[in-house]
Amino acid sequence: MAKLHLITYGCQMNEYDSERVAGLLREHRYELTDDERDADLILVNTCAIREKAEDKVFSKLGELGKLKAKRPDLMVGVMGCMAQLHKHEIQRRAPQVDLVFGSPAIAHVADLVAQVRRERRPVLDTGEYPLVKITAKPASASRLKAYVTVMEGCEKHCTFCVVPTTRGRERSHPPETILAEVRGLVADGCREVTLLGQTVNAYGRDLTPATDLAALMALVNDVAGLARIRFTTSNPYNLTPRLIDAVRDVPKVCEWFHLPLQSGSDRVLTRMNRGYTRAQYLTLVDALRAAVPDISLSTDLIVGFPGETEADFAATMEMVERVAYDNVFVFRYSPRPGTPAATMPEQIPPAIKAERNARLLEVTTHVAQARSRRRLHQTVEVLVDGAAKRHAGELSGRTRCNRVVNFHGQGRVAAGDLARVHVTEVLPHSLRGVLASPEEFGVRSGGAPCPEEAVCS
Ligand code: SAM
Repeated sequence: MAKLHLITYGCQMNEYDSERVAGLLREHRYELTDDERDADLILVNTCAIREKAEDKVFSKLGELGKLKAKRPDLMVGVMGCMAQLHKHEIQRRAPQVDLVFGSPAIAHVADLVAQVRRERRPVLDTGEYPLVKITAKPASASRLKAYVTVMEGCEKHCTFCVVPTTRGRERSHPPETILAEVRGLVADGCREVTLLGQTVNAYGRDLTPATDLAALMALVNDVAGLARIRFTTSNPYNLTPRLIDAVRDVPKVCEWFHLPLQSGSDRVLTRMNRGYTRAQYLTLVDALRAAVPDISLSTDLIVGFPGETEADFAATMEMVERVAYDNVFVFRYSPRPGTPAATMPEQIPPAIKAERNARLLEVTTHVAQARSRRRLHQTVEVLVDGAAKRHAGELSGRTRCNRVVNFHGQGRVAAGDLARVHVTEVLPHSLRGVLASPEEFGVRSGGAPCPEEAVCS
């Protein structure tokens, strides 16, 4: 067997793609190695969402160039969003790279690698191909939680975002291929799937017949042995009453919703081309909380978008407190080549972005900790991951709302079980608890929601 080393930057979709590439190459006698010095082929899966992500890749390619200078037979490939966006720049700045290919070409990775070996020259493939579902996985991939891509691409054209350029237009996988993948994962021991798409709640409208995420989740819910369903990332513009009802009614769908706001200012939202106002966003939050009162909400926010004034920023800070998010991801605006915002006037200086970033993080941490404290003395459903990393002798798992819980329970419940845990302590980044009484824990078959009083998020 030849050795493959994979380096993955960026989002869950990239993690998913890397795993599929490893699976495809395994069928061509490449086995995974953790050690890049051991590898015959190194593939770098890249992210282009912010400049910092790209800088990391070029710096890594510099290191790999030195490795290749010592071992000329080593093959180095670049895949993913940067490959799509910067193919020529990669070839110019990193001539040690033998192979550059975009996400649509993943299905052909084995042919591309063979072509480089055969022709002994760099190969570049950033073309468009029909959408195929790749379900090949590396041998090491059997695990309790898995991502499942349900659609590719994005057609929102937010003025800050490169995704429509790097990942193309929206294309949904048919429900039956998704179900087949989920069944295969569950047969390998998977208990929780996260359905992935850049705008996952636009799922299905391009299919014939058209369908939607709510219908897909009802189908996935019926897969026996699966315990939990999550989905990300949703766009407020496509959030329908049907999806809200599905989060309430489909038992395995967790009470956890990631809903990027980006900015709390209507002026900025318009300039971002987000397609909703602050008031419309708040109406959606109200509808979600009316349907699922204890739902956990998380969001993405951008600070320092071109033209963002102190008043715009204050509106974002105010939204964080008003919505009371359980978790917030804050990003400093990064101009992306070819996007409208990159050439807008009034770019914000880095020092102001850094200062707003710090202020926003302070508020989001404070709000999230207050939200976490409401879990004290609740009984929560925990999907057990296994031994706790930092607390010897304890188990660790996650609530339906995605909070980490550490508790004593070795020998009573095991990885993959749904346990019920009384929360006894709320820490900044996790919860601690004790197992509920023996007759209550160990819902091994999965899928049964907690009794009403115990449903957590
Ligand atoms: N499709 C989702 C949406 O827009 O609602 C999000 C996908 S994106 C991969 C993840 C997050 O990165 C975005 O929600 C946004 O907050 C952030 N992001 C995207 N482009 C950015 C940019 N140019 N600068 C800073 N942050 C950015």
